[in-house]
Amino acid sequence: MSSDIEIASQATLRPIADIAASVGLTVEDIIPYGHYAAKVPLAHITSDAEAPAGRLVLVTAMSPTPAGEGKTTTSIGLADAINQVARADGWEPVPGKQPAVLALREPSLGPVFGMKGGAAGGGWAQVLPMEDINLHFTGDFAAIALANNLACTMLDNHLHFGNELDIDPRRISIRRVMDLNDRALRQTAIGLGGYNGGIPREDSFDIVVASEVMAIFCLATSLSDLKRRIGRIVVAQTRAKEPVTVDDLGAAGAMTALLRTALQPNLVQTIEHTPAFVHGGPFANIAHGCNSVLATTAALRFGQWAVTEAGFGADLGAEKFLDIKCRAAGLRPDVAVVVTTVRALKYHGGVARADLETEDVAAVEAGLPNVLRHLENLQEVYGIPAVVSINRFPSDTDAEVARVIGMLAEHGVTAVEANHWAHGGAGALDLARAVVAAGERGGDQPGAARYCYELGMSLEAKIEAVATRIYRASGVDIPPKVQRKLDQFRDEGYGELPVCIAKTQYSFSNDPAALGAPTGHRLQVRDVRLSAGAGFVVVICGDIMTMPGLPRRPAALQIDVDEAGNIIGLF
Ligand code: ADP
Ligand code: MG
Repeated sequence: MSSDIEIASQATLRPIADIAASVGLTVEDIIPYGHYAAKVPLAHITSDAEAPAGRLVLVTAMSPTPAGEGKTTTSIGLADAINQVARADGWEPVPGKQPAVLALREPSLGPVFGMKGGAAGGGWAQVLPMEDINLHFTGDFAAIALANNLACTMLDNHLHFGNELDIDPRRISIRRVMDLNDRALRQTAIGLGGYNGGIPREDSFDIVVASEVMAIFCLATSLSDLKRRIGRIVVAQTRAKEPVTVDDLGAAGAMTALLRTALQPNLVQTIEHTPAFVHGGPFANIAHGCNSVLATTAALRFGQWAVTEAGFGADLGAEKFLDIKCRAAGLRPDVAVVVTTVRALKYHGGVARADLETEDVAAVEAGLPNVLRHLENLQEVYGIPAVVSINRFPSDTDAEVARVIGMLAEHGVTAVEANHWAHGGAGALDLARAVVAAGERGGDQPGAARYCYELGMSLEAKIEAVATRIYRASGVDIPPKVQRKLDQFRDEGYGELPVCIAKTQYSFSNDPAALGAPTGHRLQVRDVRLSAGAGFVVVICGDIMTMPGLPRRPAALQIDVDEAGNIIGLF
């Protein structure tokens, strides 16, 4: 099969004005970025639509493995397939809507040049133009980096000119950011060079997607909400240990000005011309890991079905999608799709990575408890119906796929083989029909939305609820130093915030090697951090890298451009 970029370059894109027209927007309504991408102003997204909002499909996954599961690819293939089913089955057209519209994250340049490669889907399920989406796109991440770094610059300038706020230079929590994997910047010294260089201090860089500004960008519902949240970011403490915010620095207005255009969701298309909003991309560990609320809202506004994804497995991604994003934005998925692969089942069933392509039905069976636990969590903790999509890889055998379907049927779960990677939407028609059927039956009534915890519970009880109900830990260990920080957050009035747990994505437990469905483990909390603007308390369990490094042979070595400007080597 051709590489992703080869397939992408064979596709015929429609002018973005045509994609906009397919959801009732004129070319004057949108702000085109070239021929194939456009920003959609917020007024068109948040104003009252005549047609009711669509139904929401959350694409999530079993616990990830290094082999890759394909949530983005499945989201794209599913949306394309719903549009095909609507045509084939003669759905009644709804003015201003397509049967399915996507809402996805924007790729970060760190992974594009590092290990993972692009994040615009794969095979015949891609969003286009993939080389633009993967490299800079409409400049949103650059705007977010600038906004964040403006706060840093203003803080250091404040120190330089006398430090009226009495900021303790050793207690500065905001860090500079850039969107590359640059381990050399993890710990730095700044302000060197004598009087004119400012005040010397230690500083550190994070990747853009790990910044609180990115998390805020993805939760904001309007420019004023964005500005309010940015103003609340705690950047440092005074010598008296009082919080210093962006508002204290007076930076919120200028930061929001830098983000004014970026906040408008980006409209692009899939290979099959399904409208896709690709916007925002916070880390899935120290932030909530899904595209912007505005992009999801746009997909619901312009689609009868809105398909979106959350990062990592359902224990992290879906939990935060539901307990943080949906709760804050008043959203509610009608159905969840749990992406599963034969390879991941075998990996959780004890097969080594190098042997995943060899048929092993017994190992597939042994890996099943991992998927079952994610399904139980979605259905029993949150009351959301779930369908399993088996994302078929070339090495999977019919016997393995049949066994997954059979075993899940014994548990009353619909599992469908999906071949969108090899065949586009046509390869996922059964999945589309199963998702639409489950979504129409729906789960709990809106208003009866269930969460893993209630906001009124103490921060400790919220951590414990996620640990015991979702991770199935026997309990939580909070060291005294961390407990004091939690007490301080409560005393400062942050006790009602949701918790955003940062832990390994590879296991339900703290231990990345504990595959399958471990029980009896304890969740070890190492640190807590306040994200007052985003509106959550980050609970750090294990080592969390907020500035990744490049591997020995980074993907950047393969990337090139020819004289005509065609990108090569982006997979
Ligand atoms: P996720 O969103 O879960 O991180 P992606 O959808 O980005 O995963 O897919 C990860 C990688 O796996 C991509 O390079 C994609 O092209 C590849 N991939 C996804 N599905 C398949 C498949 N069925 N067969 C082969 N490769 C696939
Ligand atoms: Mg993805």
